[in-house]
Amino acid sequence: MSGRLVVVGGGQAAFALVAKLRALKDERPVTIVASEESLPYQRPPLSKKYLLREMTLDRLLYRPEAWYSEHDIDIRLSTTVTRIDRGSKHVALSDGSVLGYETLAFATGATPRRLPAPIGGDLAGVYVVRDFKDADLLAEEMQPGRRALVIGGGYIGLEAAAVARTCGMDVTVIEMADRILQRVASAATSAIVRGIHRSRGVDIREGMGLHRLIGDNGRVTAAELADGSTIAVDVVIVGIGIIANDALAHEAGLETANGIIVDSHGRTSDPAIFAMGDCAVLPWQGMRIRLESVQNAVDQAEAIAAILAGSSEPYDPKPWFWSDQYDVKLQIAGFGLGHDETLVRPGQREGSVSVWYFRQGKFIAVDAINDAKAYVTGKKLLEAGITPDRAKLADPDTDLKSLLA
Ligand code: NAP
Repeated sequence: MSGRLVVVGGGQAAFALVAKLRALKDERPVTIVASEESLPYQRPPLSKKYLLREMTLDRLLYRPEAWYSEHDIDIRLSTTVTRIDRGSKHVALSDGSVLGYETLAFATGATPRRLPAPIGGDLAGVYVVRDFKDADLLAEEMQPGRRALVIGGGYIGLEAAAVARTCGMDVTVIEMADRILQRVASAATSAIVRGIHRSRGVDIREGMGLHRLIGDNGRVTAAELADGSTIAVDVVIVGIGIIANDALAHEAGLETANGIIVDSHGRTSDPAIFAMGDCAVLPWQGMRIRLESVQNAVDQAEAIAAILAGSSEPYDPKPWFWSDQYDVKLQIAGFGLGHDETLVRPGQREGSVSVWYFRQGKFIAVDAINDAKAYVTGKKLLEAGITPDRAKLADPDTDLKSLLA
């Protein structure tokens, strides 16, 4: 039996790592050190069904408590690793204990960026959505007729806007960039998503920053926008991106750069230490990127579990994402980074459409809006390395399956 694996963090990547390790019959001693008070749970519903109160925390848990003892996994909740001594291979924990390790795995995730206190970021009524407690507090505030200001038109902001509007709130979204989803999607997809929100009565203002939030008795009441206008607000939802939790790794002398730098096997600059999920910076097509997605957290963790169990297979990301907003399902296969061309293809049903991305003539990603066929075909084309014929793709009468031939 090998020595102990200590996993720092108790989120999706941490769970995927240990579950896969045990599924591969690797019985080494494992300790998970988790800062949250809950057992590992799924995060995606926090800005969707959980926020709408259509799901409870027990349904988010990956496994009940008994599973961890049955699989001989020591999980320490509400505990953090405070220091790593790489020389003696020990970690110090916030409860005062010290643990030895043979292998260490960072699955520390990321922290949402917050608005600075001098511009009102510390007022009551201002929320981020990262853990279940954030979602619980925000859900309490989502009442019909109240006014929500969403700051940031990324996935968090747009999913929360959809929930707020569904709850009957008046919703304004401000996005500093010149279009929503600028960091993650094409202009064509931004336009489709903008239309979905506007048709439901959301006021979307792009190219608009926040000057400051105004409070009364410590509670937010208004927002002054960058154009000098002021709007009255009851609740503010901040979705302005995340920062990788790499401070502990940095202090331990590992190589970091807005995330913990790993190789294609998930190894950091110390071969006994791995990193995965939102906190890791990985090599991809000649670049170094962080892939902020559940798919990456789970797949990278499972690849690392296999490596620990003896595999030499590198992690080759196959990115996919999804987002639910109202009754609209957005599914994304591939990674559109660096695209220089897009093609919009109407779907068979009303409201279904897909956006296909190309880079230097090569098909690299598809965004499918209420169009499962486009998503599935796009995914298969990417797996097979096929770039579809543009004229056929653009023709709504083409059977998508024929593109795979
Ligand atoms: P994000 O994708 O980085 O989007 C944040 C947006 O806010 C950016 O467009 C950013 O513009 C803008 N922004 C930044 N500062 C602003 C300001 N002061 N005023 C107005 N706009 C501002 O991050 P996120 O939406 O907060 O999501 C956090 C993480 O959760 C991400 O990793 C995301 O992928 C993940 N998530 C994923 C899903 C999904 O896959 N369905 C759902 C929810 C969350 P600039 O780029 O110009 O700074």
